[in-house]
Amino acid sequence: MRRISQVFGLCITLILAFSLVPEVHGMTFNDIGESHRAKEEIFYLATGKIANGDLAGNFKPNSTVTRAEAAAMIGRALQLDGDQRATEFNDVGSNHFASGYIQEAAKLGIITGYRDGSFQPDKPVVRGEMALLISRAFEYNSTTITAASHQLLSMGIAQGMADGSFGAKESIKRSDFAVFLARSINAEMRLLGQEASFNKSRYVTTNNLNFRSGPSTLYSIKGKLNSSDKVKVAYYIGEWAYIESNSKQGFVHSAYLSKTDVTDIEGILKNKTLIIDPGHGDQDPGASGYGLLEKNVVLDTSIRLKNYLEDSPFNVKLTREKDVFLELWERVAFAEENNGDIFISVHANAFNGSATGTESYYYRSANNSYVKESKALATYLQNRLINAWNLSDRGVKEKNLHVLRENSMPASLVELGFIDNKSDNAKLASAEWRQKAAKALYLGILDYYYHYEGLKDISYLYENLGASPSKKLH
Ligand SMILES: [Zn+2]
Repeated sequence: MRRISQVFGLCITLILAFSLVPEVHGMTFNDIGESHRAKEEIFYLATGKIANGDLAGNFKPNSTVTRAEAAAMIGRALQLDGDQRATEFNDVGSNHFASGYIQEAAKLGIITGYRDGSFQPDKPVVRGEMALLISRAFEYNSTTITAASHQLLSMGIAQGMADGSFGAKESIKRSDFAVFLARSINAEMRLLGQEASFNKSRYVTTNNLNFRSGPSTLYSIKGKLNSSDKVKVAYYIGEWAYIESNSKQGFVHSAYLSKTDVTDIEGILKNKTLIIDPGHGDQDPGASGYGLLEKNVVLDTSIRLKNYLEDSPFNVKLTREKDVFLELWERVAFAEENNGDIFISVHANAFNGSATGTESYYYRSANNSYVKESKALATYLQNRLINAWNLSDRGVKEKNLHVLRENSMPASLVELGFIDNKSDNAKLASAEWRQKAAKALYLGILDYYYHYEGLKDISYLYENLGASPSKKLH
């Protein structure tokens, strides 16, 4: 049973992968036969409910396109708000079928009315006007009919007339309008040799993102994309991006793509050097309890944190990666020499055996003017640690510590827990819990950059771990 369904599933996948245009189930028009020259484009638009037939099931391919119909088809393609409503035009009332699209398209400057305040919704569209409408709707940025016509010809969207002209003053049939509109939306339908240019790169920022054959959820799913996948973007149809992934082309909703180019994001993050400072080392064991030494616990946790950071474009440097001794001034000198962007020192506490909990520090000093940044960093780290370890929250505190005072970058020191306290010690002693602490520190660092530096495009890094940004601090 299981095997049969798997084979069946594979067949479905293959069918979807190889069909250029989605299968249109049960969709027919009485007047569009199998061999109609615009059949593919008309059904492509009908699938997305961009173009409709009449109630009798006719598409009327040879009828002219009115200005109202053109506004509605373009509006549906862009998923504009088509709810019928009052308009700024004296001849389009709120009960006109296209009033919402006409008003919205006018507001966006895609279509304009006439000087006398009318829109003339029933006036047929001529080819030159159509070229200008398409240029404005899809942001080809032509400002004249001549420029727009040339552009549509050069992009493989429109063909000239038999006499070689564009026929700018000729009225346009519904079937021709459908062909031009479908080719504008989906570059795979353009005339041969007119490839879309995929000149932007973006990260996918969510898992299981549907990759579709058209710019709405009405279109079939060609595949799935996951967080951190890099895709190439050619253009946008409303909120939908026309992308290329693994040499397949199609649409994804742009809300799930990074706002910045992949190379720009990577460039920004590569320039951020994060200094991680495992406390103590060698002859300085730090605190101890139940046979556990602070220097070992914090080194292991820091290396686990380094591993998280090395899976991201951030540049990470540890002050020590072995059991070696470093003076406090050497730790600061290391951070300064490496042009650290932030500094995080990792420690464990000790007191009287009964004290318990996690705390984080920052400091204000003449050297370190990054007080607000340091406090924000400490707070994001503290919140994530409390969340992950669930020890008592001893808070974010100001403390005069050498590595916080002498550094000239946002700096925080975290005390994971009390090594001489039995329950805190149990977590410090566990590789599994140290992994959780490292992940918490990593997420705290992301929170700092996401909120404090406003790097919203690192959301994909959270997604990689199935996490999401914390709440922003006030
Ligand atoms: Zn310490």
